[in-house]
Amino acid sequence: MKLSEHFQLDEFRCPCGCKLEQKPEIVAALKDLVVVLEDIRAEIGVPLVVHSGVRCPSWNRKCKGVPRSQHLLGKAADLVPKDKPVSELADLLRAKGVDLGVRGLGLYSRFVHTDIRSGRRATWRG
Ligand SMILES: [Zn+2]
Repeated sequence: MKLSEHFQLDEFRCPCGCKLEQKPEIVAALKDLVVVLEDIRAEIGVPLVVHSGVRCPSWNRKCKGVPRSQHLLGKAADLVPKDKPVSELADLLRAKGVDLGVRGLGLYSRFVHTDIRSGRRATWRG
């Protein structure tokens, strides 16, 4: 299933195979998320690989996510830019993330966490 021009539902699936990503409320959240991801993709100029998308509670525990992770809601994606250093995506989002609609920004060495949480914005280093 296509969520937007460049993103498929499959790219966000929970790795445990539970199919949580197919629930209507999760698909709806992902559709909002990919609006932001499309704008990030356009800015950076290369495809974005979804390193982690939707997580069910048990998978989230397994990969040591925080208990109230936005990944549980379909509102988060950990991203790696194709053929560019992760640091370039990190720099771009530190500068323009707010304007692009990113509300949670986590900077890690191997990926960049982005989310569209409601409530207060947050930025952190992993
Ligand atoms: Zn799962």
